[in-house]
Amino acid sequence: MTENADSDEDGTTPATLSADGLRTYLHCPRRYEFAHVHGFDDSDDDGPDERVALLRRALCTTLEQTAQQTGEIDRETLADRALEALATRWERHDERFHSRAQRRHERQVLEATVEAYVEAVGPTHAAGLRQLLAATDKEADPLADLVGPDLTLSSSVSFGEQLQETATLEATVDYVYGDGSSVVGVRFVPSVRPLGFLRYRDDWERVAESFVDHFDPEMETFDPDPIGALFETSVVLAGLRSLCDRLGLEDRTCRYVQIPLADREHTSVNWVRETVETSLEPVDLTDAYVDHHTFGMTLEHRNTTVDSRLESLASRLVSGAFDPSDRWDRIASESCPDCAYTACCQEYIAEEVRFDG
Ligand code: SF4
Repeated sequence: MTENADSDEDGTTPATLSADGLRTYLHCPRRYEFAHVHGFDDSDDDGPDERVALLRRALCTTLEQTAQQTGEIDRETLADRALEALATRWERHDERFHSRAQRRHERQVLEATVEAYVEAVGPTHAAGLRQLLAATDKEADPLADLVGPDLTLSSSVSFGEQLQETATLEATVDYVYGDGSSVVGVRFVPSVRPLGFLRYRDDWERVAESFVDHFDPEMETFDPDPIGALFETSVVLAGLRSLCDRLGLEDRTCRYVQIPLADREHTSVNWVRETVETSLEPVDLTDAYVDHHTFGMTLEHRNTTVDSRLESLASRLVSGAFDPSDRWDRIASESCPDCAYTACCQEYIAEEVRFDG
């Protein structure tokens, strides 16, 4: 019933649920079943995702190389190194483009994004990674735990009347760096647009009402992407706490940041001069998640409202509750129109037939 094929029905082996899977379930439980239980493919154009993946690998390689060296980290050297790492990967990238001009343009967009990353945060994050490496337990070899891409962080939730069932929750970040007394997990994403109101409301007090309303069947509110991002933040922060414990950094607080690599809203193209410029705006999700009331009671950077909802969602998911009828009106109007599974979805087909009849 879950993404972990090895999980036992009696619960002796915890099921594994990914943060991306939880987000899909929030959009529609049936969509989760198609995508994560049956493994049906839902993409018809992987090109943009592959370009973002290429960029993520180039930037992570650059950070890894820089962290292993000594000396000042200057912007120009970092940019040169990142552009070289990108060029190496681009040579092997065999995506089909309509023309040579399009291929050249897409490469320029990636190069502009590298420059924007270095301009916005590159030297600071590289220095923070180096500082974190220096502070970790020297017995371990922490670099592989700190630079990915796709470092898996995990936590667990318990549910059931006696809390007898457990699920492992997983999320990924691309690298981890130190910022003063904080350890920061960074995930490169294609866009931060799915974060919706979380981009502008950066503390829980301003987020709480929308969160609660999403789960109220009497309300029109339906925000699966921002709610999914809060769940993801919960999983990442818990996973970072475990990582800190392993690396001898127990006294650090943890933060979670997303950096968009393919948001075109900040990109400008001069077609005459054939130049591309762009900028990046990282989004820190920590304060939108952390609840000061929970912090006051437990001294932990958590949120009991979000975490208890996360537990009940995990419980429903593990039990195989994929019927979308609870929120059908919202799912039919918000999720079905852009769903890749309409051709095989009995609920969608039944709704179409009802309208046609
Ligand atoms: S078509 Fe609609 S009901 Fe069916 S899986 Fe997709 S979102 Fe869910």
